[in-house]
Amino acid sequence: MQPEIKRLVELQAADSEITRLRSRLNAFPQQLTEIEKRLAEGKQHVTAKKNSLTESLKDRKKYELDVEAWKERAKKYRDQSFTVKTNEAYKALQHEIEHAEKEVAQAEERLLARMVDGEQFDVDVKSAEHQLKEIERDTGAARQKAQAEQAAVQKELEAKQAQRAQLLPDIPKDLLETYERIAARHHGVGLAAVRDEACGSCGMRVIPHTFQLLRRDDSKQIFQCENCSRILYYFEPPPAEAAPSGEQANSASATTRDS
Ligand SMILES: [Zn+2]
Repeated sequence: MQPEIKRLVELQAADSEITRLRSRLNAFPQQLTEIEKRLAEGKQHVTAKKNSLTESLKDRKKYELDVEAWKERAKKYRDQSFTVKTNEAYKALQHEIEHAEKEVAQAEERLLARMVDGEQFDVDVKSAEHQLKEIERDTGAARQKAQAEQAAVQKELEAKQAQRAQLLPDIPKDLLETYERIAARHHGVGLAAVRDEACGSCGMRVIPHTFQLLRRDDSKQIFQCENCSRILYYFEPPPAEAAPSGEQANSASATTRDS
């Protein structure tokens, strides 16, 4: 492989890593927003329950006053009934007393219902506050974790960018421009490894003559895939990929021993 292509391969590796790190960084604001949203919902839940309790206490006060007011009225009519002169007036007052007593009974019923509700609201407020404490603890830990990760990824990105900058001076300007132009069109990937005489990105066949030249270190020619236009390079299998033969030998000898 030509030395400048080798450096381009390194540049591509750095660029792919930079893209990956950037997309991870881009995900953090959303993650943090979701954490804050969860916390806000927990707080809102407590507020809503507290409001319900306050409303119920207000209603209770109102119904208590209603009960008192109607009792007062009934008493007033009853007192009047002792002093009236005509039968008709007496009947009318009896009717008013009945009505007032009915109102007392209804107000007492509403009051009782509100008192029962109030107990439930009390329980609800306590439960919402308990939940909020858990949410605060969870979101606090999640926020801290996300922020620590964000800082680590940011640091990693800066290191990669510095590494990338160091590669640039050794890459010919026109080759770099070609690479960057192609990479911009292909989601940041401007290079394609040739494996089995085909473009590793799109599968297009590479003619044997080109393949031979790609394998040579002294060739000055740059080849691009005829189909996807990526800059081609010969993929040299790393020693790790040649290992399976050793493994096979091991299993073969194991088989021999077993039999
Ligand atoms: Zn291709």
